Amino acid sequence: MNQIIKTIIQPVAASIMLLALTACSPPADNTSEKAAETSSAQSKSDFPHSFEKVAENTWVMHGPRELPNPQNKGFMNNPGIVKTSAGLVIIDPGSTLQVGKNVLAEVKKVSEEDIVAVFNTHIHGDHWLANQAVKAAYPDVKIYGHTNMLAEIEDGAGDNWVQLMDSMTEGASKGTIVVGPNNAVENSRIIKVGDTTFKIHNYGVAHTKTDIMIEVVENSVVFLGDNVLSLRIPRTSDGTFQGNIMAINNILESGAKTYVPGHGPTGDKTMVEAYRGYLTLVYEAAQKAFEEDLDSSDVLAISRETTTAYKDWPGYEKLLGPQGAQAYSEVEAAEF
Ligand SMILES: [Zn+2]
Repeated sequence: MNQIIKTIIQPVAASIMLLALTACSPPADNTSEKAAETSSAQSKSDFPHSFEKVAENTWVMHGPRELPNPQNKGFMNNPGIVKTSAGLVIIDPGSTLQVGKNVLAEVKKVSEEDIVAVFNTHIHGDHWLANQAVKAAYPDVKIYGHTNMLAEIEDGAGDNWVQLMDSMTEGASKGTIVVGPNNAVENSRIIKVGDTTFKIHNYGVAHTKTDIMIEVVENSVVFLGDNVLSLRIPRTSDGTFQGNIMAINNILESGAKTYVPGHGPTGDKTMVEAYRGYLTLVYEAAQKAFEEDLDSSDVLAISRETTTAYKDWPGYEKLLGPQGAQAYSEVEAAEF
């Protein structure tokens, strides 16, 4: 890219990315106590996180809730392991080279087998920049991502994420480079790894334009990416309410027993339904405002009434207003 254009574009790109990153997880409201606990845990161990078994042959490391910072080295997502007869499969290994190395050390405590495949759920860098560490340790690893994710990386999205992670962690991610997926997948694709079946779900724009949800058929597990967060308000600015709700409706038809969100605790379908409930209430508040000839700024008064069940979810106070406005513009667009 022309250097002059680059110097203009990069700061803009970085601020857009920051918005997108917080799409993955809201700011940690009311969490100073929790943050203090985490920071004292971090002084005991450099990486105080481990994998928990959530289903047959399936483990998840539930990452911290804070945004990337120098202490957590950018780690904030939920990496997953699926053990197959042909080796290990990793879902979303994390956010930086350093985090990836730490995650790999924890993988070894679950199984000494080789990693043969990785799935990346979407373009947000906190989920996949640690691919680099996996690829360095297992050069033949297959890395799967949605076709649109490969295209966005081709257009430079990955480099912007590297830059953002470097600035948010104040250099703790130094050395991280873009290692994107090397295998493009789309909806309905079936990938067999040993005797385990991985089924790809994508129903158009949801959390982003690049989402895949990965159903592990024999284990009755779905990795949802950020199409569902657990017990926290999402940022929705890279996606749409309608698309996200539709993706959730479709994935619930899998009838899986266990659902792994992009951030927050793993659960069953009630966790997924609770999240859909929030998106639906905000969208319905926007519809009501539109039908009553009110403005986008009036959605908040309605949604505040209907979403009280979610008021303790981190991010609620900050995001309910902007999300009402976003949903209103979607309702408007749907009318014309
Ligand atoms: Zn995300």
